[in-house]
Amino acid sequence: MVNYICLNCEATEDILFNLVRNFDRMDDRDPNVPPQLACEACGGEMYPESYKGVHGYEYRIENRLTKKEAAQSTQNRAKGNGCGMEKR
Ligand SMILES: [Zn+2]
Repeated sequence: MVNYICLNCEATEDILFNLVRNFDRMDDRDPNVPPQLACEACGGEMYPESYKGVHGYEYRIENRLTKKEAAQSTQNRAKGNGCGMEKR
């Protein structure tokens, strides 16, 4: 089983390993992106918690979340600076 987690609402779903493998074997996939599913609850993007693909790529949700958080914290910092300058 591969544990998939929704990036939007954090719902989890266990997907049969063979099923994920079948997705992974499809030809026109971007190897940087793991086989992805749509969340049944919210329609959001689901990402495997930890999965090593057929092409030797290893996908981890930590990596994905770290990137996302880094982008958000950069945004927040920019926003914070803006507020600071407008302080009266
Ligand atoms: Zn969801």
